[in-house]
Amino acid sequence: MKHYDIVLIGGGIVGVATAWQLKQRHPGASVLLVEKEPVLALHQTGRNSGVIHAGVYYQPGSLKADFCKRGAAWTLAFCREHGLPFDQCGKLLVATDDLEYDRMAALEERCRQNGIHTERLTAVELTRREPHIAGAGALFVAATGITDYTRITARMAALFEASGGAILTGQSFRELDESALEIHIGLELTSLTASFLVACGGLMADRLARMMHIPLDFQIIPFRGEYYRLPPERNRIVNHLIYPIPDPDLPFLGVHLTRMIDGSVTVGPNAVLGWKREGYGRFNLCLEDCLGMLTYPGFWRVIGANLKSGLAEFRDSLYRPGYLARIRKYCPSLSISDLRPYPVGIRAQAVTRRGELVHDFLFAASERSLHVCNAPSPAATSAMPIADYLCDKATEQFSL
Ligand SMILES: Cc1cc2nc3c(=O)[nH]c(=O)nc-3n(C[C@H](O)[C@H](O)[C@H](O)COP(=O)(O)OP(=O)(O)OC[C@H]3O[C@@H](n4cnc5c(N)ncnc54)[C@H](O)[C@@H]3O)c2cc1C
Repeated sequence: MKHYDIVLIGGGIVGVATAWQLKQRHPGASVLLVEKEPVLALHQTGRNSGVIHAGVYYQPGSLKADFCKRGAAWTLAFCREHGLPFDQCGKLLVATDDLEYDRMAALEERCRQNGIHTERLTAVELTRREPHIAGAGALFVAATGITDYTRITARMAALFEASGGAILTGQSFRELDESALEIHIGLELTSLTASFLVACGGLMADRLARMMHIPLDFQIIPFRGEYYRLPPERNRIVNHLIYPIPDPDLPFLGVHLTRMIDGSVTVGPNAVLGWKREGYGRFNLCLEDCLGMLTYPGFWRVIGANLKSGLAEFRDSLYRPGYLARIRKYCPSLSISDLRPYPVGIRAQAVTRRGELVHDFLFAASERSLHVCNAPSPAATSAMPIADYLCDKATEQFSL
């Protein structure tokens, strides 16, 4: 049976960044990355807004605040070094009424605490910069950018393989068994052993941790992020990324207008409960996923606490005029015919038994394994600092 020093699970941006950095730090170690899909980056990493977040929203002192800021700089440097596309086009957070204007001031203060430069724009200045956007004022964040995280992942995977790392795709973990000396890993077609394991399983994070008998106080709940794409003749409608001012009581950022790196513009994502963790069709349903949620007390608590907004999201997911109204609040010239189909993404969101959404990045460990348990947005931006953090932990915990 083949033995590796370290096996990683998950070929999303977090798993690949970690594999690459582990191999850089420990060139002599045998490292294998296993991905269950036929190609890398098929789930969250390949289905997101492509934004290099600056770190506007995050609690000062949190891992998110730190990793996002460092991750943005690291991502830009990586793109420059490897000739990958990026555009530091900046972002406008648009306030449309007095309440949002007050919330904007709170966000401005949070940016100051997080060391992020902002510029406050009046309604007139906003219209001068963005003739199609209407609002009472806006906060400009120049550091925000866009990129293609699938291509970044592919480049890191190539670097990992070039340094002697191995990647196995199309192989799911069926069995994980930790003993005092090693971990026995049962794959679909073969079995192997590893001295140490690092799991970066995205939407499957909790299941992988449970396979290692790690006691957890959370479960992954999938939240669909449904997008539309504007027709090509609308590609110049905005010069920056346009975001609403988020309601602090709601868990997600609200639908935004995003310039994509291929020149198109998307609208979205909304946030609707998903009934299949990795099922992208509107009516996809998985019995195991549904039963897992319906028997989990945290699910009912989070539904209860967000019932009104959850029902509104669900209605507007099915009723395009409702979805459109969310975006017309600050981009009034858009019409129903501008909303063209675009692939859905599904967020892996950890929810505690008490029904709280885990906001920060979350990790867990057993004797011989490390697990990324909660890596929602901005984890694509933050992937390299997350990997750096995991490498530190692995080096220390596994005495590499
Ligand atoms: C709609 C949406 C918009 C977003 N927008 C942004 C954004 O603009 N900017 C940003 O920074 N972040 C954004 N994010 C967040 C970001 O995409 C994710 O946080 C990030 O991609 C997480 O990467 P990951 O590697 O942890 O997970 P994933 O990309 O989901 O990868 C996990 C991998 O593990 C594999 N896996 C799972 N179980 C097994 C198993 N048993 N065996 C083998 N392999 C397994 C899966 O197949 C998958 O490939 C967004 C997310 C969504 C859903």
